[in-house]
Amino acid sequence: MPKSSEKHSYLVLENYIGGKFISGKSHIDSYNPSTGEVYCKVPDSGKEEVRCHKVYDFLMVLTWKTVMLARTVDIPRSVYNFRFFASSVLHHTTDCSQMDHMGCLNYTVRCQVGVAGLISPWNLPLYLLTWKIAPAIAMGNTVVAKPSEMTSVTAWMMCKLFEEAGVPPGVVNIVFGTGPKAGDALVAHPDVPLISFTGSTGTAQRITERSAPYCKKLSLELGGKNPAIIFADADLERCIETTVRSSFLNQGEICLCTSRIYVERSIYSEFLEKFVAAARKWKTGVPSDPSNNNGALISKEHLEKVRSFVALAKSEGAVIHCGEGVDHLDLPEPNKSGYFMRPTVISGLPDRSRVMQEEIFGPVTCVCPFDTEEEAVARGNGVRYGLSATVWSKDVGRVHRMAQRLQAGLVWTNCWLVRDLNLPFGGMKHSGVGREGGKDSYHFFTEVKSITIKH
Ligand code: NAD
Repeated sequence: MPKSSEKHSYLVLENYIGGKFISGKSHIDSYNPSTGEVYCKVPDSGKEEVRCHKVYDFLMVLTWKTVMLARTVDIPRSVYNFRFFASSVLHHTTDCSQMDHMGCLNYTVRCQVGVAGLISPWNLPLYLLTWKIAPAIAMGNTVVAKPSEMTSVTAWMMCKLFEEAGVPPGVVNIVFGTGPKAGDALVAHPDVPLISFTGSTGTAQRITERSAPYCKKLSLELGGKNPAIIFADADLERCIETTVRSSFLNQGEICLCTSRIYVERSIYSEFLEKFVAAARKWKTGVPSDPSNNNGALISKEHLEKVRSFVALAKSEGAVIHCGEGVDHLDLPEPNKSGYFMRPTVISGLPDRSRVMQEEIFGPVTCVCPFDTEEEAVARGNGVRYGLSATVWSKDVGRVHRMAQRLQAGLVWTNCWLVRDLNLPFGGMKHSGVGREGGKDSYHFFTEVKSITIKH
């Protein structure tokens, strides 16, 4: 059973395999990003843990994200993931057709795939892991899940809840460790026929190569460089409030966050001024303070990467309107070495800049003017990603045209992050392969058989 180490001031996590907590042989350090100190030791699992326990086949949270986000997104959405899939699985139907001339009746049945390998990232650790576990077990599979090594504690605590909820031993197994070791062992395991992965495009490319010899079923939910396209007839007040949220929620560490904002030229200056003022009010600070919108970024390395993009933008002649290098951040003493960064708004970059092309995954967004609808579509589509896009306009015809022409798996109009779990979720281009959610999860986590009976 999970417990804090009495000898250390940090937690020591254990794998959860076959309904038992099993200690790791060696461990890796996991850091509290708001202080920079080690707060837990995560088992450094590999092939042995994935293989030798043969994979037979709800919610209290310790997380370093803000209390505000944990309360409003991560925890409620995790609960909802279980409720949704537990009930929606009861309502699926299959197909039936008759061939009178052949005297045949055809129908399909769906059956479980077997062991589902689930690999999830650190940015919404509980929400994204439950998004996979819930449909996988609802469809009758067992799972071996490998959460991010940077945010393993929530998954470890969830194991205890599985026990309390009476999930039979061996149905949900959680193996902790790094991607190249524990993650790779799962991807290259011959008895795991399905991998559902959420993470970066680079890792997905490796997973695709490694799983190819086994012809696995793959679902890849990847990065984004998501545009918001704002027309002059938009409700500016609502648009600014939402676009600040869509750019900076969870420190911008959400795959669906807006990172390129195209604004029709006639309202560009007004938008920029009001947007920068609103971004400055988006509060960054200690995550345990419920009045703070943002806490620390996930790690020192990630903070440095995000900062390097702001430095690059500066070197290319961009204007940094607020945030990094412009606004001061006052933090209490224990958090001065945490990985904090204030919402940063940049303008004056060409679309070809790396800052406009690459996923930064931090509280940084770029604002540019545009002149025509045609131009907005072309520039919105001008990146290798295609996860989500947001369109702001009161013109119904225009929003339909834009939604059809934008290369994105999800298009929001006059809103952001409104999610009906019945809708397919996933990206185009380098943002993903396959769709999950509702019917699509049902299809992904099951195999279909076509049966023909001659009478
Ligand atoms: P990452 O690709 O570094 O890691 C994701 C997971 O893959 C982790 O559990 C990691 O340990 C594991 N992993 C790493 N290398 C592996 C390997 N060789 N084999 C098997 N597993 C391996 O991504 P991250 O930094 O944890 O997460 C951020 C990324 O996730 C961003 O690109 C973000 O856009 C993306 N993301 C996408 C969605 C979506 O739904 N499309 C949602 C959240 C995050």
